[in-house]
Amino acid sequence: MTARLLEGGPIAAEIRDGVAADVASFTRTEGRPPGLRVVIVGRDAPSMVYLERILRGCAKVGIDSGFVELEGAATEATVAATIHDLNDDPTVDGIIVQMPLPKGIRLRAVVDAIDPAKDIDGIHPLNAGLLRLGYEGFLPATAHAAVEILRRSGIPMAGRDAVVIGRSPVVGMPAAFLLVREDATVTVCHSKTRDLEAHVRRADIVVVAAGRPGLVTGAMLKPGAVVVDVGINVVDGVLVGDVDFASAAEVASAITPVPGGVGPLTNALLLSHLVRAAQRQADEQPVSSRGV
Ligand code: NAP
Repeated sequence: MTARLLEGGPIAAEIRDGVAADVASFTRTEGRPPGLRVVIVGRDAPSMVYLERILRGCAKVGIDSGFVELEGAATEATVAATIHDLNDDPTVDGIIVQMPLPKGIRLRAVVDAIDPAKDIDGIHPLNAGLLRLGYEGFLPATAHAAVEILRRSGIPMAGRDAVVIGRSPVVGMPAAFLLVREDATVTVCHSKTRDLEAHVRRADIVVVAAGRPGLVTGAMLKPGAVVVDVGINVVDGVLVGDVDFASAAEVASAITPVPGGVGPLTNALLLSHLVRAAQRQADEQPVSSRGV
């Protein structure tokens, strides 16, 4: 392997240290810790693993976290009403809704129900619009992590040719907008892209978020390219990304591993978004109404 390994763990630890300090200061000033609630509709294994990771991360830095579990057969109205209750709860600063939702519940109905001020994973249309226009809002944590790992690793992005594979509203598109914000020249590829390889071969930076193991191999890369693998797939019981790591690491100058790359950073950034949400809401509330 010749590529530099871009590990998320050390960067995530740095972010978590900052979050812990901010949580302590918020708790002292406000008389309560910042609060996060995760809404789960129906129990499916991957989302429970993800949930436990979030709750553990919160506990470590002093965030008050919990979850609200609705049965898989819950109606759209019940899910929206649950979210509205959390919107109205002054001790809840951030809300995450676990994906995927059961069939029959429209993503749009759930997304629209979240108060944009508590939307710490940036899925509400207002936050998506703020990102699109280049204003300050809440970023989808995974897309944020994909670009933050480059920024904090000192990888230059300005003027570079970047290819993002995947155009989902939660990962691919926000990652592309963030790269544009960093002055990269960005091409977004998807399942209908003709000759993916030709696009990848031109790229200085390749961000892969397709959910297709082995989609990008070393043979497709420009020598010295930087590769960010956002994919999470389980193949024969093993967690792998979308990039064939062994061949890509021989050609790339830097590459994120899976696991241990974008994932740890995503969780740490989510907590940092929560603290920002808590602080903003506290700043907007008159002290007399806070009971402190
Ligand atoms: P998604 O909604 O399924 O979107 C996948 C995207 O990839 C789509 O835009 C799709 O194109 C494109 N695509 C699929 N097959 C392709 C192919 N053969 N060639 C080119 N493009 C292709 O998935 P997502 O939610 O964005 O997630 C993407 C990946 O990131 C998944 O592996 C997911 O598990 C992972 N993820 C990681 C984290 C983390 O913290 N690291 C967090 C969330 C998700 P179309 O639009 O044409 O269908």
